[in-house]
Amino acid sequence: MVTAQRVETTDPSSRRLRVPLFRLIVAAVIALLFVACQSSGRRTESDSNSRAVSPTGLSLVVLISIDQLRADRLDRRLPGGLGWIARSGRVFSNARLEHARTETCAGHATMLTGRQPAAAGLPGNTVVDRERMEIRYCVEDQSSRGAILGRRSQPEEGRSPQAFRVSSLGDWLKAEHSDARVYSVSAKDRAAIALGGQRPDAAFWLDRDGTGRMTSSRYYLKELPDWVGTWTVEKILAPVPEVWRHASGDPPNGARPDAFVGESTRWSMTSPHPVKPEGDTVGSIDAFLASPFLDDRTLAFAQELVAHEDLGGRGGIDLLALSLSGTDFIGHSYGPHSQEARDALLRLDRALASFLDFLRDRLGPEHFMVVLTSDHGVLPLPEWGHQQGEGCPLPGGRIHPAEFYEGLSVELDEIFGPGPEQADDIGPSDWFLRNGYEIFFRPETLARNGASIDRVTAVAEQWLAQRPGVARVWNGADLQHGKGNEPMRTLYRNSSFEAGAGADLIIEPAYGCLFTPWPAGTSHGSPHDYDRDVPLVFLGPGIDPGTVAGAAAPVDIAPTLAREMGITAPPELDGSPLLLWEEDSPRSPDH
Ligand SMILES: [Zn+2]
Repeated sequence: MVTAQRVETTDPSSRRLRVPLFRLIVAAVIALLFVACQSSGRRTESDSNSRAVSPTGLSLVVLISIDQLRADRLDRRLPGGLGWIARSGRVFSNARLEHARTETCAGHATMLTGRQPAAAGLPGNTVVDRERMEIRYCVEDQSSRGAILGRRSQPEEGRSPQAFRVSSLGDWLKAEHSDARVYSVSAKDRAAIALGGQRPDAAFWLDRDGTGRMTSSRYYLKELPDWVGTWTVEKILAPVPEVWRHASGDPPNGARPDAFVGESTRWSMTSPHPVKPEGDTVGSIDAFLASPFLDDRTLAFAQELVAHEDLGGRGGIDLLALSLSGTDFIGHSYGPHSQEARDALLRLDRALASFLDFLRDRLGPEHFMVVLTSDHGVLPLPEWGHQQGEGCPLPGGRIHPAEFYEGLSVELDEIFGPGPEQADDIGPSDWFLRNGYEIFFRPETLARNGASIDRVTAVAEQWLAQRPGVARVWNGADLQHGKGNEPMRTLYRNSSFEAGAGADLIIEPAYGCLFTPWPAGTSHGSPHDYDRDVPLVFLGPGIDPGTVAGAAAPVDIAPTLAREMGITAPPELDGSPLLLWEEDSPRSPDH
């Protein structure tokens, strides 16, 4: 059955401080005493004073974001690394993203900045530049500093975190401790860059549209370090099998039959799936991405990074942020209840076990900390939801955006008139620019037709609100002026730029309905629980295992880690430090 039930929504507009202020002050005093004790014990006179010393003896903090891992997929019974984290860590079982636009850039931007995505400057995978009425990729940088390393010829678009409006945990760490090392790694550029913050030592990602190698950009490095340079597409793919075989669900194993309507057929709907259709070349990258071997190789790269940079081994504290993308690519293709998703989770569980063993052997279990979370969940395949009697009330559950928005354009033509002279020019894209669920009206079209923005917005809002598959239409101005029901208004505000820079209208899709041009696969991006419920687990020295049912969100990760690392977070954060210990812990002020 579909496990994501509609549940009462936590209201992010009334976030309480998760730890009473008095407790925080007492805890801070205790933390300072810890620092003082540790400092006298661990440092020598010749040690650099610029190295961070945590209250709990940490030397490496590892954030592991599993792209598209729904909270209900973190299973304590898993035998490997995921299960171990779930059993041994402090699990915030009601963790939930606090923004509406549940996309990769936004989810990752909130994790280590302690800010909501729009405040951080990365409200979604794409952002509209209203002045130019252009859609920009969240981590694009067209200047030469964004040039992608290891490519012979440069494309027009480079990559950097220039869109960030705020600093991040790695920046706070380096500001206080210049020797600290900060790295981020992912198969996706946007995940690595959003996790890296303003000035990490480097963000590394897979150059999937270019060379197929692990890369970075000139923003971070003049050139790739020698060891990174060896991570060519041949090296990445060499140990990867030609095909991916998995169970077919006979006997039943908890997932649905391998062949199910709505699953993608691009790399075969059923086992075996081709993984290297063009051998160890860049031509195989797309198939490789939709396989569990992607995360194996990302973790192997991360392991080499830890060894080469001696992360966690030099005194002080280092930070490594990983985003594992395989779950996302597989989930998009086959859905979260598929045999593919189940097998990939088991493989990821094993891969994480060996990665954690590596850290344990190298650093000692008392010196590293792991935070596990995700950037968003996902909607089950609409066809699956329909079969379960849940989900979208529309037949098929899929709404084609082109047909949908074409209808709006025709309506605006009829009411405001394209005008005989411009008849040939007026098309769907002449009235508005569309960015996912966001609509931005084009000033030149309004002017040409003598239509006021207020009237066009009102007409469009009314038309859209009556369409099947639409739960509500948010007016950008109303969002800023406090109109609309909570908690949705706050979720949308956290995904929207300030007045004048944000969208004119935003569509809230109905529960379970998928706006997609594709006849197969599924996605995320809505404010509903299936997209917002994510795992959040902390594990490490001084952290008591257990399950905590209170409100928590990935935006709380950065302030929580700052406290654990003994560094100062900026005062204007949206997140709050989470309590990681029990009442009877030595760290508890009541102890
Ligand atoms: Zn994602």
